[in-house]
Amino acid sequence: GDAIRIEGLTKTYAGRGGQPAKEALRGVDLTVPRGSVFGLLGPNGAGKSTLINILAGLVVKSSGSVRIWGWDQDVNPRQSRASIGVMPQELNLDPFFTPRGALEVQAGLYGVPKARRRSDEILRMVGLEDKADAYARTLSGGMRRRLLLAKALVHAPHVLVLDEPTAGVDIELRQMLWENVRRLNEERGMTVILTTHYLEEAEEMCGEIAIIDDGAVVARDRTSSLLGQID
Ligand code: ADP
Ligand code: ADP
Repeated sequence: GDAIRIEGLTKTYAGRGGQPAKEALRGVDLTVPRGSVFGLLGPNGAGKSTLINILAGLVVKSSGSVRIWGWDQDVNPRQSRASIGVMPQELNLDPFFTPRGALEVQAGLYGVPKARRRSDEILRMVGLEDKADAYARTLSGGMRRRLLLAKALVHAPHVLVLDEPTAGVDIELRQMLWENVRRLNEERGMTVILTTHYLEEAEEMCGEIAIIDDGAVVARDRTSSLLGQID
């Protein structure tokens, strides 16, 4: 089966205050095989975040169907939500939460058993154990990113989605993120989808990529073949 199967997906944002409506996705068909590390590339405004936010359940689609790990989002919303974890692009975190507290709440939302133990395990995995009890407002940008990754992983999803995970990130953190992603994929068979506008990152990380432009998938292939054409 596929990790993700998207058919005929459209999203139109309503216009506001005299702004025209915006057709951000215009009929996207996309399947992502289980066990892959899959890249979504495209220029700013192409619709990548919209697509990811729909997968995450944060944006409501206009039409089309989305299956996550075989579960239709409309028919089996709980199972489809439990199958995916999303690391968003924005670094906004409740400033009065600690990493440990935030993870315990997240674990609770997903009904994860032994929330405390699971939270500590994930904190170690992303290298945040020393900051477990620090307030989020005192965390650096890099630490916040680690916490967002930890939140995406706490319920052990089948599919991990990373929205521009290394945008504006220093080398050390980039390596940490790449290593984590590789390990999750290779050792746990986790399917990973990431958006990026760094070709180098797609080349390094992704077995397959799709290119999105103006709300549609315009190319999709093995990374080696696709990037070979661009060079
Ligand atoms: P509300 O009126 O509910 O506060 P907003 O109009 O502020 O909603 O939009 C909600 C979110 O969508 C905000 O995060 C905003 O930045 C974002 N947003 C609104 N319009 C656009 C746009 N044209 N491009 C990208 N993001 C947008
Ligand atoms: P990308 O992630 O590829 O940069 P987005 O999905 O953020 O693309 O945006 C796709 C298009 O939809 C853009 O034209 C953007 O301005 C618009 N858009 C995104 N969010 C909103 C919103 N909340 N309201 C209105 N327009 C939006």
